[in-house]
Amino acid sequence: MTHKLPELQFAMDTLQPHISKETLEFHYGKHHNAYVTNLNNLIPGTEFEDMALEDIIKKAPVGGIFNNAAQVWNHSFYWNCLNPNGGGKPTGTLLEEIEKSFGLFDKFREKFTKSAVTNFGSGWTWLVNGENGLEIINTSNAGTVLTSGKTALLTCDVWEHAYYVDYRNARPQYVEAFWNLVNWDFVEGNLD
Ligand code: MN
Repeated sequence: MTHKLPELQFAMDTLQPHISKETLEFHYGKHHNAYVTNLNNLIPGTEFEDMALEDIIKKAPVGGIFNNAAQVWNHSFYWNCLNPNGGGKPTGTLLEEIEKSFGLFDKFREKFTKSAVTNFGSGWTWLVNGENGLEIINTSNAGTVLTSGKTALLTCDVWEHAYYVDYRNARPQYVEAFWNLVNWDFVEGNLD
């Protein structure tokens, strides 16, 4: 089974000025694409050869196959979290759930931002839904919440390759810009 780079749901110049076309050309076109290529090169002849991506992530030991598979999934999920017409605040059930777990929406946003800005090194910051309601979780490197038993609702990629072209070392500026793009319809859809 050959894994494929998923199509982006938006044109690469439409997330500007928050995320540039150049960033997407590298982040999607080079980095995400390389994880797909690496995975396809690593699995032939292994027990993972014909496995669905999610199963590889759940079953592979720590190492190259896990890292590349998880990065393929994490990035596809991240692109779905972005939309040129996104941003603002969620509404309806999602807003209610956020308020139940964090108080006001602005408190949630502040907490997620702090988590993303302070996630040490390369990694991902997630909003997840679990037994105790909504939670914010940081993972490192290729770490994913897919293996946590909790449902991913939203993620922000905080690897430097996500923001270095646009913001250099200023991760806080990238995270602020990220909020202008959040696809709340996708996030709410993940609650089901
Ligand atoms: Mn990335």
